[in-house]
Amino acid sequence: LEGATSPSWYPSPKGGTVDQWAESYRKAAALVRKMSLAEKVNITTGTGWPMGPCVGNTGTTNAGFPSLCLQDGPLGIRFADSITVFPAGITTAATWSRKLMYDRARALAKEAKGKGVNVLLGPCVGPLGRSPLAGRNWEGFGSDPYLQGIAGGLSVQGIQDEGVIATAKHFVANEQEKFRQLSESLSQGFKDVTSPLSSNIGDRALRELYIWPFMDTVRMGVGSVMCGYNQINNSIACQNSYILNGILKDELGFQGFVVSDWLAQRSGVASVLSGMDMTMPGDGLLWADGDSLLGPQLTRAVLNGSVPIDRLDDMALRIVATWYQLGQDDASYPRPNFSSWFRTSIGPTYAGVGPSAGHSLQNSYADVRDDHHEVARAIAAESITLLKNTNGALPLKSGKDAKKSIMIFGSDAGPNLLGPNGCPDRSCNNGTLGQGWGSGTAEYTYLVTPLEAIQAKALADRTMVEYVLDDYQYSAINSTAGKAPNATCLVFVSSDSGEGYASAEGVLGDRVDLKLWHGGDKLILSVAERCSNTIVVIHSVGPVDMEAWIEHKNVTAVLMAHLPGQESGTAVLDVLYGSVNPSGRLPYTIGKSLADYGPAAPILKQPGGPAPQQNFSEGLYIDYRHFDKQGITPRFEFGFGLSYTTFEFSDMVITQTLVPTEFPPARPIGVPAPELNSTIPPSSQLGFPLGMVRLPKYIYPYLSDTTVTKSSAPYPYPPGYSTTPHKPSPAGGAQGGHPALFDTIFHVTVSVFNTGSLPGKAVPQLYISYPNGTGIDFPVRSLRGFDKVAAGPGETVAVGFDITRRDLSYWDEKKGNWRIPLDKKGNIGAYEIFVGDSSRGNGVTGRTKVVK
Ligand code: BGC
Ligand code: BGC
Repeated sequence: LEGATSPSWYPSPKGGTVDQWAESYRKAAALVRKMSLAEKVNITTGTGWPMGPCVGNTGTTNAGFPSLCLQDGPLGIRFADSITVFPAGITTAATWSRKLMYDRARALAKEAKGKGVNVLLGPCVGPLGRSPLAGRNWEGFGSDPYLQGIAGGLSVQGIQDEGVIATAKHFVANEQEKFRQLSESLSQGFKDVTSPLSSNIGDRALRELYIWPFMDTVRMGVGSVMCGYNQINNSIACQNSYILNGILKDELGFQGFVVSDWLAQRSGVASVLSGMDMTMPGDGLLWADGDSLLGPQLTRAVLNGSVPIDRLDDMALRIVATWYQLGQDDASYPRPNFSSWFRTSIGPTYAGVGPSAGHSLQNSYADVRDDHHEVARAIAAESITLLKNTNGALPLKSGKDAKKSIMIFGSDAGPNLLGPNGCPDRSCNNGTLGQGWGSGTAEYTYLVTPLEAIQAKALADRTMVEYVLDDYQYSAINSTAGKAPNATCLVFVSSDSGEGYASAEGVLGDRVDLKLWHGGDKLILSVAERCSNTIVVIHSVGPVDMEAWIEHKNVTAVLMAHLPGQESGTAVLDVLYGSVNPSGRLPYTIGKSLADYGPAAPILKQPGGPAPQQNFSEGLYIDYRHFDKQGITPRFEFGFGLSYTTFEFSDMVITQTLVPTEFPPARPIGVPAPELNSTIPPSSQLGFPLGMVRLPKYIYPYLSDTTVTKSSAPYPYPPGYSTTPHKPSPAGGAQGGHPALFDTIFHVTVSVFNTGSLPGKAVPQLYISYPNGTGIDFPVRSLRGFDKVAAGPGETVAVGFDITRRDLSYWDEKKGNWRIPLDKKGNIGAYEIFVGDSSRGNGVTGRTKVVK
């Protein structure tokens, strides 16, 4: 894999080839036909950083197509007032609730729309969590592609049902922060590094792990996909023709537009030919340099023939068609009514230039929160994962049965002394941890701390409350922990990470280890040695090493509360006192050490050359797939979580619904893409309009010098470049891939029986084991279904799962297609189906049998 190269795939497939988008492309063709060359270029290019109210703003047209507002992010509207800070992606995944995944996205999109955001920069479905340390794992939905795909797909649905364009990011294999961006590498002193990290990866792991969740988002009709900062097999993600043209646009049939991550674009013509459709924030190689790689350069490249005009037309069509597809041509769709850059009502129209370029109304403080705190709280509570509960420690009792005294420990229980938004993009870990840091954060309108919530409840119960919020004042900690003989001690600890452009306490994005921050192990042990009922609550971006204290007999209960967002205290209270029976399940494995995660775990920290090489030599074996393969016992396995009640699964029935074939049938033929047959105008028309006032650093599509000669020497096209249509992938043919991949082959039903004495929610998880004797290497088990069901004491509920062709297939690298493995005799062998309460827990097993 070291030094791997990426094949070429040209020309870029055109948009408008699937039925569900045909009407939008028809409308888009009519509008784009009215656009001048400059206008088409303008909608592909951001206006520069920060040259508009949003983190990304496209240029304008006279043709009736507005400047689009692109705004972060996955858990809330970034840089805006009066919004909800929802729980993070990882938290949402831990609910294993399809309903909550959808509801959160829908509420988030209502807020986006209310603020005038056209394109929401989420969901994040990559990083997947190849390394448990990677800084941005928490923005997405856990270390399994199936779970990540379901949550990502439902997020797209929720966002787009509200008319907001969703963005699936970061495409693809963007699995660590370190070395992701050249400017960051240089600022960290790596002077010899000349390009971003290359994720070197084979086709099979690429499809079965990293592309998989993107397939689900495209299948749901996602309007935009963001290409990442990294390279894939030594080709920049935003100019990798195999990844963008080949996989995304041909194989997955993506109909929307590809937007670059902010400054991830590293070339002009090459990026455009490789399938990138929009550059953000518009600047060139450096922030706010005003020197775009598209803008006037794209104008020139079309005029001089380097970029075929039908490629520009396709870029414009994809952007405009997406806008129609989401119904944003409706005149009532709000315009941006907030500024990312300041909070005064009137402010500079172009923050990047300052007041000289005029003032306008910037913030109208639209309160878009509605009742969204309810879904935020429901997710924060339902995600909480009960990992240990002994001696009946939880739930705590209320009223006259309530404990006499509660002692609370740890800075993670209380407020940030700088205020909830005291650190830019949440780049510090002070006070209770509700979000990681980076562009995927938002500003709290309030943050309920655990201390506040517990104290209010305890006071009502006449329980005495004391606390030590300083993590290191051991004499105060020890004396408080040892003070009341029958006290309940609650210890709050955390582990944080974030995006590579910012740091906290010396952590530059990716975590350095799995340890709790602020001496969390020592804090827990100090309390547990003195308090016989020590309950640990963890707020974390991912798995943490619990080995120092997890088996301590006085650590009676442990809750993983993930990153809860604004409803931190209310949610943890719901679970501590049992008004919500915990039903969270781990969306990743908690290992006993970092080493147990295997070769994928370490972050590449030394560049080893000008282009840092990260070899994904572990293939499919990340997270539980690695633990299973190597027979390593984790501390808590993927999918694990306890309840205050107990469940039993039984009575598996497997029904075959379709006779499977080895390969999907011939690829369906789509509808023809619109052709505009535009002609190249004379370059004299592309100068700056007479008398136009130019703003410094603002990106215009016009040329300062309109002399353009068709270059006599041919443009140095990338190797393999061609304008003859490429052979289509047999795995394509519809949004998300070949439609037959999503045919249900087996239906499985199971009974879920609540054997305990409390109502609760079970999370039956379906794992498959591929047949033996195929000669192909498969993980021991792979998640292929899950559900979340409520059942009262003594109640039995039936659950059903659909297993699709894709679920049963692997990616055959030679055939370049999804394939159902056959045994030596050419038959489809038996898949073992396990439905259990975790990836290694209790459950029921069955075997498939193919009937022809
Ligand atoms: C991040 C993206 C984000 C963009 C805009 C980038 O640094 O990687 O996730 O959407 O900035 O803020
Ligand atoms: C910006 C972010 C952006 C990041 C990219 C920061 O300065 O605030 O929006 O995602 O740079 O590196």
